[in-house]
Amino acid sequence: SAKQAGGNRGVMYESALFDKAAQQFAIEADMRDALREGDQFVLLYQPLFRLGAGRSVLAGFEALLRWRHPVRGWLSPALFIPVAEESELILPLGEWVMEQALRQGRAFHAASPGAGLVMNVNVSALQLTQAGFCSGLAGVIEAEGLDAGQLCLEITESMLTGAGASTVLAEARELGVQVAIDDFGIGYSSLSYLRRLPVDVVKLDRSFLEDVGGGSSGEAFVVAVIALAHAAGKPVVFEGIETQDQKDIARRAGADMVQGFFFAPPLSANAALELVRSDRKLSELAEAITSD
Ligand code: C2E
Ligand code: MG
Ligand code: MG
Ligand code: MG
Repeated sequence: SAKQAGGNRGVMYESALFDKAAQQFAIEADMRDALREGDQFVLLYQPLFRLGAGRSVLAGFEALLRWRHPVRGWLSPALFIPVAEESELILPLGEWVMEQALRQGRAFHAASPGAGLVMNVNVSALQLTQAGFCSGLAGVIEAEGLDAGQLCLEITESMLTGAGASTVLAEARELGVQVAIDDFGIGYSSLSYLRRLPVDVVKLDRSFLEDVGGGSSGEAFVVAVIALAHAAGKPVVFEGIETQDQKDIARRAGADMVQGFFFAPPLSANAALELVRSDRKLSELAEAITSD
C-alpha cells in the first residue's frame, strides 16, 4: 500500500539521516586528530592570470584546501568545510590555512619580487565574525613578512547580509588587505548592492558560463554584469574557465582576470613556484625585446 511505501521511505530516510550524522561525527573526530597531527591538510594554489593585449600574466594564486585522510584518501573541501564550520573547527583550521598561505605567498614573492603576486584565501563567516579576527590577521601578515595588499580575502555574498561581517571587512581593508566577493552572481543581493559592497574585486561564478554560447543573450548578460562591476570600480575575475571558447568570451566581455582548468588546475606549492619562476622569465624576455 501507499502507506507501507511511505513507511519504507521513512525508514530509509531516517537511516540516511543517521548515516549522514554518523559520517559527520566521524569526520569531525578525524579532523581533530588531523589538526593535532599537522601533516594531513595540504594547500594547493590555483593561478589567476591578468588578461592583457599580449600573453596572460600571472597575477597571483587562490589557496585551496585539501585533506589527505589516512583512510579515506584525498577529501574535497566541499565535504569537510561544512563539517568544520558546524563544529567550529574551521577556526583553528582557518588559522592554519592563513599562516600557510601567507608563508607560501612570501616564497612566491621572493621568487618574483616585481610581480606583485596576490594570495587569495577563502574565509568562512565564522572566522570573520570572531572577535579579534583583524588583529590576528595583522599579526600573521607581520609575522610572515608580506605586504597587506598581497593578501586578498575571498568571502561569499551570503556573508554580507549580517552587519557584523561588513564592519570586519572595512577594518581588514583599512589594514590594506583586499577583499573579493566569491561566486558572485549566485546569491540574491548582487546587482543592486554591487556599488555599496565593501569589496575590491568581484569573482564571477562559473555558472555564468553555462548561459553563454550559441550566440544567445547569455554573452550580452555577462558583458553587462562585468560592465556593472567596472562601473562600481571593481575589477572582475572570471572563474572556472575550462575552454579556449570560454577564455575568448571572458576576454570579449572585458574580464580583467581569469582562473580555471584551461589555464591551470590547483597546483602543489612546488609546481606553483615553478610557474612563478617561468612567468618571471617570460616577463623579463618580453621586457628585453620591447626595450631593444
Ligand atoms: P571556491 O572558493 O569558489 O573555489 C573555486 C573552486 O572551483 C575550487 O574547488 C577549484 O578547484 C574549482 N575550479 C577551479 N577551476 C575550475 C574549472 O575550470 N572548472 C571547475 N568546474 N571548477 C574549477 P575546490 O578546491 O574543490 O574548493 C571548493 C570550495 O571549498 C571553494 O570554492 C571554497 O568555497 C571552499 N574552500 C576551499 N579551500 C578553503 C579554505 O581554505 N577555507 C574555506 N573556508 N573554504 C575553502
Ligand atoms: Mg574562492
Ligand atoms: Mg569561487
Ligand atoms: Mg565556487
